[in-house]
Amino acid sequence: MSTPRIEINLKKIAHNVKVLKRLFGSKGIDIIGVTKVVCGDPTIAHALVKSGISVLADSRITNIKRMREAGIQAEFLLLRTPILSQAESVVKYADISLNSELAVIKKLSKFALKQNTIHRVLLMVELGDLREGLMPIFLDNTIKQVLKLPGIELVGIGTNLACFGGIAPDEEKMTYFSSLAKRIEEKFGITLSLVSGGNSANYNWFMSTKNVGKINNLRLGESIFLGHETLNGKPIPELFTDAFTLVAEVIEAKIKPSLPYGKVSQNASGNVPASHGRSKMKRVILGLGEQDVLVSGLTPRLDIKILGSSSDHIIVDAKKIKLKVGDELEFVLNYGALLSAMISPYVTKKVEVDVWKLKNIANLLNKNTVDINNIFQPSKLKRIPAS
Ligand SMILES: *Cc1c(COP(=O)(O)O)cnc(C)c1O
Repeated sequence: MSTPRIEINLKKIAHNVKVLKRLFGSKGIDIIGVTKVVCGDPTIAHALVKSGISVLADSRITNIKRMREAGIQAEFLLLRTPILSQAESVVKYADISLNSELAVIKKLSKFALKQNTIHRVLLMVELGDLREGLMPIFLDNTIKQVLKLPGIELVGIGTNLACFGGIAPDEEKMTYFSSLAKRIEEKFGITLSLVSGGNSANYNWFMSTKNVGKINNLRLGESIFLGHETLNGKPIPELFTDAFTLVAEVIEAKIKPSLPYGKVSQNASGNVPASHGRSKMKRVILGLGEQDVLVSGLTPRLDIKILGSSSDHIIVDAKKIKLKVGDELEFVLNYGALLSAMISPYVTKKVEVDVWKLKNIANLLNKNTVDINNIFQPSKLKRIPAS
């Protein structure tokens, strides 16, 4: 198989979804599957839906359109506050959107009327992380106006913590958020069917809280795909942390000095390379670089060390491992690395199909959106779940 490639194990993703659904469901919380890190890949989206997810969320209309056109049977939620100039396509492709600007909701209303449809909105509430959301004191006034807009249905409120400001969704924040939902329902005599308390960072709160209050929803991406919570990056019991693997190939393997020699100046990145303190070492070059993936987010599965990278190369200290040209090396990806590899046109996406055979997927989805060449039978490699 060609490299670099990212191997995507659908069975492990499906397993993670089922475990998380059961876990959060035990206290009455439903989960929305967030597809932005996989760019709305239809095969992966299909796996989420097959595992019981009914609402898929993405930050970009392009990705939502991609999934819709692939024939994914789900409702679609736009995560990022709609771009005003995209209001028309937001109404066209998303069933629900997260909002924090009245001017945007008015525009959505206009296009909902024009398209003869109802667009559902959640109002985002700022709780201190300082990314999107209305300050709580402005909520009532905004709700009053949103309720008057034709073509718009206010279905709930949402909040997002631990994204920009690193503020934890703890008991205090969640209790407060829940009390806002209760107060809004009483004051306006409406039911908020979605009280969406956050993302993968809400795991610790969820595990420790005795009462989730009115919170009945979380939007999960990272914990589904990478199997960990995001406050401390700890693996969640029973989940797979290795659903994705990046594979790169050795293009040069030689014993070389550990220090550059000659007159020292800066390298292509503008840095003076650091010394590695040994006279000779096994230096290996991989056909993988910054144009393929965020190299700092990679961890090799073997005991080797990444010394550095450029746009097209990674230089590795192979330590005690014997490597030769053509050998494949596997890497675990963090969120940033996964995102970059999924975006990069240079990285082939290979879906490992264990549960649903290629034909089933291709039949269910619009054929031209599934690249049949990019699906392969599972390898025999045994990998261990975290925990
Ligand atoms: C990305 C995002 C999420 C999902 O976050 P994860 O950490 O991947 O679970 C949830 N809500 C919003 C608004 C987002 O932008």
